[in-house]
Amino acid sequence: MAKKIPMRQCIGCSEMKSKKELLRILRTESEGIILDATGRKNGRGAYICPNAECLKKAKKSRGLERSFKIQVSDEIYDSLTKEIERIEKSVRNARNGDESG
Ligand SMILES: [Zn+2]
Repeated sequence: MAKKIPMRQCIGCSEMKSKKELLRILRTESEGIILDATGRKNGRGAYICPNAECLKKAKKSRGLERSFKIQVSDEIYDSLTKEIERIEKSVRNARNGDESG
């Protein structure tokens, strides 16, 4: 029997991927729209690939607005882009550090 993996759609490239491969963006009452790196916070979530390209696409197509049904300013997209770029870098560094041969 094949295991059923829960799939989510990236708001940038619209590809379906498993939750593990995606980052969760949350809309919270207190903090507004944030990147949920731990995946543990409650709230309405949208999913995106961990790369800045997909966030650019989401910004163009207003993916967050469609997911959350609220206005999302460019500043929010910009700060999310910065966070994702930081995550991208740390993932890359972790991979490089892994090459022990
Ligand atoms: Zn994507």
